[in-house]
Amino acid sequence: MKAWWRGGVAAGALAAALLGAGGAGAASTGPFGIEVRFLGAPLGAAPRSAVNEAARRVSALIASPFEPVRVDVPAGECDRGLPALRGRLTRLVVFVRVKRLDDDLYATGMPCDLHDGSFLPIYGVVDLNSSGLSDLPRTDVLDTMIHEFLHVLGVGTLWERDARVSLSGEQDERVFLRRQGKITLYVAPRAVAAFRALGGQGAGIPLDPDLGHWAGGSCVRRCCPVRPGSTRGGSIR
Ligand SMILES: [Zn+2]
Repeated sequence: MKAWWRGGVAAGALAAALLGAGGAGAASTGPFGIEVRFLGAPLGAAPRSAVNEAARRVSALIASPFEPVRVDVPAGECDRGLPALRGRLTRLVVFVRVKRLDDDLYATGMPCDLHDGSFLPIYGVVDLNSSGLSDLPRTDVLDTMIHEFLHVLGVGTLWERDARVSLSGEQDERVFLRRQGKITLYVAPRAVAAFRALGGQGAGIPLDPDLGHWAGGSCVRRCCPVRPGSTRGGSIR
């Protein structure tokens, strides 16, 4: 789904933005915020609070400020069925749309438009599968939404395969993939350091078969609490 942004493991530009280096000329406007706008089927109190908590937790990860931006986006511009978005935005707007998705999906997420310079997204969309949602424990909704909000921010979504310096090696002649039997490991030094700091072990980080996610089953829970949103097949979820 969402071919425009389809991609895999996050690379340098996003890391720079997350660490505050991306918006060199940006005025300091306070902490980064995410504004959730719910669409679609009504959401119960518990999953709604999980979505809002996920938004708070993910926004707290972003060191760069959200540079206020004026937008005039017609309805349906980013994805069919999305409403128009107009005015001055001071937070990342994420449409969380509750709708029926394929049975093997909990949710999908993607950014829609980016700031110049920092490449931090301006708005995005998460589709949350309405089927079975009421049976999901709150922690699974929280984990899923953290995963999808990170996709909205660009993690795993903003780089085409041939432009990911860390995967193809064509951009900077550095390749951070290593095969180990049937498993592909991601071995970029900073990523491995973060993985180890969270309790991960081994020569690198095991990836899912599509190379788009850390393999959920191989990670310690704290570093990869994303099982509900993990991939089956090739698209970003
Ligand atoms: Zn995903």
